[in-house]
Amino acid sequence: MAGAKAKKKAGAGKKLKRGARKPALARKPAARKPAAVRQVHGPEQSRRAAGRGTDPARVAKLLEGLDGAYPAATCALGHRNAFELLVATILSAQCTDERVNQVTPGLFQKYPTPGELAIADPRELEQEIRSTGFYHNKAKSLLGASRRIVEVFGGEVPQTMEQLLTLAGVARKTANVVLGTAFGIPSGVVVDTHVQRIAQRLDLTRNTDPKKIEQDLMKVVPQDRWILFSHQVIWHGRRVCQARRPKCAECVLEKVCYSKDKTYSSW
Ligand code: SF4
Repeated sequence: MAGAKAKKKAGAGKKLKRGARKPALARKPAARKPAAVRQVHGPEQSRRAAGRGTDPARVAKLLEGLDGAYPAATCALGHRNAFELLVATILSAQCTDERVNQVTPGLFQKYPTPGELAIADPRELEQEIRSTGFYHNKAKSLLGASRRIVEVFGGEVPQTMEQLLTLAGVARKTANVVLGTAFGIPSGVVVDTHVQRIAQRLDLTRNTDPKKIEQDLMKVVPQDRWILFSHQVIWHGRRVCQARRPKCAECVLEKVCYSKDKTYSSW
């Protein structure tokens, strides 16, 4: 045994001929990053690493803060019924609610029902909604959705996610807005640009895809809060937690927020 060991030791010291492959045993194992070596630079990141973002007590504090600041937050798009809300939400893609609210009163007057909008002249409709941007596609969506509401749903906006998703121009965000605001059905969380940004800053998600963000939020926010939560976060994004320079000194969530984007910290 001792002789074999001695042989092995002697072999290890031998020089390899040029071009010869190193024996497998002599190869160094690939360097692996130890699990403990994570990019933790300070207390904020430590909290992230500790996964405290979705801690129920923390989420409760966030909801409490939002309730205090925006107790009656609701949809800013002017509408009188589910059909008008559907039209306004389709028009709001890549457009401000203010702009949509300037366009919709005239539109609703001219086309008060899906039946009337379904037979609108496409060129005329395009001009009527032109200022909301992407008017060609939006006109197509409005016409297609209205036709289907008339032909398949008896002229009434459907009340399930599954059915709404069959309408032209309707994805989960629009369907959630219509179901939540017009029918009071908590089908999910509306993930627009504000909700997306704030959910990330508040460490409620680490995803970037809106569908995955929605799933993450649905897991941590109680279902009976989904509708109000969506509106509250959208308001918070417009007024305080803005994309470029969040007004952290005025923010009711500042004490529980450890975003790297913060512009002020009291702790
Ligand atoms: S503290 Fe700042 S970054 Fe955090 S939620 Fe409030 S405004 Fe947004």
